[in-house]
Amino acid sequence: MLDAVVVGAGPNGLAAAIRLAQEGLSVRVLEANPTVGGAARTEEATLPGFLHDVGSSVYPMAVGSPFLSALPLGEHGLEWLHPDICVAHPLDKGRAVSILRDLDETADELGRDGASYRKLIRPLVRNWPTFADHVMDSPLRIPRAPLLMARFGRRALRSTLGLADATFDTPEAKALLAGNAAHSGLPLHHVPSAAVGLVLMAAAHARGWPVPRGGAGRLTEALASLLSSLGGSIETGRRVTTLDELPPARAVLLDLTPHQVVRVAGDRLPEAYARDLGGWRYGPAAFKVDWALDGPIPWEAEACRRAGTVHLGGSLEEIAASEQAPWEGKVSDAPYVLLTQPGVVDPSRAPEGQHAVGAYCHVPNGWDGDASALIEAQVTRYAPGFSERILARTIHGPARLEEWNANLVGGDINGGALTLSQTVGRPVLSRHPWRTPTEGLYVCSASTPPGGGVHGMCGYHAANEALKHTFG
Ligand SMILES: Cc1cc2nc3c(=O)[nH]c(=O)nc-3n(C[C@H](O)[C@H](O)[C@H](O)COP(=O)(O)OP(=O)(O)OC[C@H]3O[C@@H](n4cnc5c(N)ncnc54)[C@H](O)[C@@H]3O)c2cc1C
Repeated sequence: MLDAVVVGAGPNGLAAAIRLAQEGLSVRVLEANPTVGGAARTEEATLPGFLHDVGSSVYPMAVGSPFLSALPLGEHGLEWLHPDICVAHPLDKGRAVSILRDLDETADELGRDGASYRKLIRPLVRNWPTFADHVMDSPLRIPRAPLLMARFGRRALRSTLGLADATFDTPEAKALLAGNAAHSGLPLHHVPSAAVGLVLMAAAHARGWPVPRGGAGRLTEALASLLSSLGGSIETGRRVTTLDELPPARAVLLDLTPHQVVRVAGDRLPEAYARDLGGWRYGPAAFKVDWALDGPIPWEAEACRRAGTVHLGGSLEEIAASEQAPWEGKVSDAPYVLLTQPGVVDPSRAPEGQHAVGAYCHVPNGWDGDASALIEAQVTRYAPGFSERILARTIHGPARLEEWNANLVGGDINGGALTLSQTVGRPVLSRHPWRTPTEGLYVCSASTPPGGGVHGMCGYHAANEALKHTFG
């Protein structure tokens, strides 16, 4: 009899398993894919020698995570590489705004909005450990730093459009906020899109937006190696279809999204709980393109050449229109694009002088069209001549993403829409959202607080719940 079985070796499944193994429990992880990592894996997706992060790529929330940042992952092969510029946001006429590691330098570049930027972000950066501890936990937790969280809440509980108008005067600062808030996949007039933007901006100054040397997969391989060193085991190529096929264990933790939980746990769940999970809403999908390039992207703006991440989409108004479209079943003609170019700090990602670059935009969940030309047009808008650098491209639309990782339901990369109701009740409204009503059964995926992103905190909290309620 094992102590615990974890289904799914994504960052959250691995984090949960590590937390349990740290307490000396026997843990086995069962993973459907031939390799661990979930949406944090690296593959030669285009040409030999080009290492692409098909899913996640840049990790502010991993280095900023109270749990992952405390693990000795360096001893298991992980090395973080920090670009000079965390994120650049090109504007027309060759201009760009950017977030550098240093808050003051960033604020200085924002000119007359510099003071407002400092006022907005500095308290979060200065108190990062406490702030991260709160925002990476259940939103229903009683804050231990009520003043800090009340201050954050006053801003975060506005829409991005409202916060931008109330805080900034210049289109540059407003665009910078919009580009960060749009990671949420929410329309920018919805709450809590601004909260996502604020957390990402603060994380840049507090901890950086680094990439792992060698690719995203090095992070999850390091987690898997740490787990093995603690005595845990991992079985890959093992797709679980029902709880009945699991080895006997006192606790089962599912790194799965709500509809998958219902399918796998079946009638072991009380009807009302299964019905709640069945009502879970998935958000817009990502449409992902990976390119093998014969050189760096010929960005017009110097800042874009040094940034690990580039937000494309122009002004706040343009980004807002783009992010509204998927919620109306449409794709913007000029979509907001999140582009990552790890090669600016990691030459190991491609043959010498060449680059492995990835980008995605948001499209409706399950959409079956092709957005690659729209994405390439947005890159070309700020980097004329981009298309001449393309040696090969690989496209992952929503269906292909879900085939690659079953948790990306309809192409949703966050385990469910980050609407206000699904942020507070994730996956159900409860002070203990990681625990199901079924004895010994827990959910540990991004469909629990604190939601999407590679931080392992969903797994950490679920494991702590299991330690308390199943293992005493
Ligand atoms: C294109 C894309 C870009 C992203 N960019 C970023 C980024 O730059 N930074 C960031 O922080 N986050 C990013 N994310 C989000 C981040 O990757 C996810 O939020 C995170 O991976 C969630 O971790 P998880 O463990 O909950 O789930 P996942 O990583 O999805 O892992 C779930 C695992 O469960 C396995 N599984 C599913 N069903 C079964 C089954 N029945 N039996 C056994 N195993 C099963 C899957 O194969 C998978 O390995 C991105 C995601 C995508 C797809």
